[in-house]
Amino acid sequence: MPHRIVILGAGTGGTLVANRLRRVYSPTQAEITVIDEVAVHIYQPGLLFVPFGLTDVKKISRSTTGRLRAGISFIKSAVSFVDVEANSLVLENGQVEPYDLLVVATGAVLVPEETEGLPGAAWNKSVFTFYQPESASALWRALAGFGGGTIVMNVIDNPIKCPVSPLEFCFLADWYFQQRGLRESVRIIYATPLDGAFTTPIASRALAGMFEEKGIELVSEFNTGEVDGGACRLKSYDGREIAFDLAVVVPLHEGAAFVGRSPGLGDEFNFVRCDRSTLQSLRSPNIFAIGDATDLPASKAGSVTHFEGEVLVENARQFLAHQPLQGSFDGHSNCFIESGFNKALLIDFNYDTEPLPGHFPFAVGLPLLTESRLNHLGKLLFQWIYWNIILPGRNLPGLGSAMPKRGKHAQGTRTR
Ligand SMILES: Cc1cc2nc3c(=O)[nH]c(=O)nc-3n(C[C@H](O)[C@H](O)[C@H](O)COP(=O)(O)OP(=O)(O)OC[C@H]3O[C@@H](n4cnc5c(N)ncnc54)[C@H](O)[C@@H]3O)c2cc1C
Repeated sequence: MPHRIVILGAGTGGTLVANRLRRVYSPTQAEITVIDEVAVHIYQPGLLFVPFGLTDVKKISRSTTGRLRAGISFIKSAVSFVDVEANSLVLENGQVEPYDLLVVATGAVLVPEETEGLPGAAWNKSVFTFYQPESASALWRALAGFGGGTIVMNVIDNPIKCPVSPLEFCFLADWYFQQRGLRESVRIIYATPLDGAFTTPIASRALAGMFEEKGIELVSEFNTGEVDGGACRLKSYDGREIAFDLAVVVPLHEGAAFVGRSPGLGDEFNFVRCDRSTLQSLRSPNIFAIGDATDLPASKAGSVTHFEGEVLVENARQFLAHQPLQGSFDGHSNCFIESGFNKALLIDFNYDTEPLPGHFPFAVGLPLLTESRLNHLGKLLFQWIYWNIILPGRNLPGLGSAMPKRGKHAQGTRTR
């Protein structure tokens, strides 16, 4: 009997895991089924560029089935819940899918309604998010017609996908309004619940310095309680207010709702509880999770999802072969930070090592924590790498899942 492998979610993680497993197992060894409620795959890092007219949603979208290797079945349906005891899951139409091995790759969902005032009457008029395709496109139209005033970029709370994207938005807004000769008339504010520009000290100092150079105001420890679109004000729980003409928010994130309907699978925010090293669910050994769906203390990023994929496939194979799991994920994350004017920074870190200066992946390579054109080209090239190497489940030459240590200037550690 072939193994029955079911993968929930056909985004970054679900697609690359399905394709990697299909390379490992022939159809007679394993039936692989992928389930997703939508049949369109969006390259989400491209959403950052939509508001500035540098791309559009159509250009960053492809069909889901076209991304899956031959011999992988696709079911277009939402998942209702996982019946962990019965090793099966129930789809929204009541169909039951049994599995020997389940991979949860359903990502994170935006829950704007969890914040007072969102989405509200001002949604896509003066309050936007570039984290959703429709709102990113509406923001493009609004920025094109923006003649001056205050723009606030606000992260409501963490965790969020790609924590550097809101900073990139501010840098690109600075560039965009300089190109249009309007920068003097536009005030850009970055309001964050963190106590600095980023989560870790060295990167936080570097990014705050760039904000200062570019005239972007940083408002820290701002915990948004309400987005009052009518009065054009962000209100924090501690009574502070930020007036705006245009607000760009990153709404709260949660795991998919079905996780909450699957007893014991998730935490209180529906993120799948799993081992931070093996990616195996804490609820059941035949369930694994990947990417934004997990409760891991790693960034919710495509790069993390890619590195996890290598580990997950190794462990899935060992699990199905009744062997001890040997694959170990170290929290490796790697992010380009677009900073405008055809430049970008690169950060590379893991559970224990914070983003440090130096070079990636070796002593010679892309500069870390420093603006460069090379990094900008890396960011642009990444879209091609995503469609042609990462999603098809190929290996990046010379780069494994573990964070490379060579090239980093100082060894910093942080505790979690
Ligand atoms: C604006 C933006 C910029 C970003 N920039 C970067 C970047 O520069 N670098 C980087 O590394 N990462 C970036 N990311 C993050 C990256 O896109 C995600 O971390 C990555 O896509 C996570 O992959 P995933 O498979 O976990 O989730 P996803 O790719 O989001 O896939 C989840 C899938 O599950 C499906 N699904 C959800 N619920 C259900 C359900 N109930 N039933 C069936 N299907 C369901 C969804 O339809 C979706 O297809 C960015 C994200 C955003 C939003």
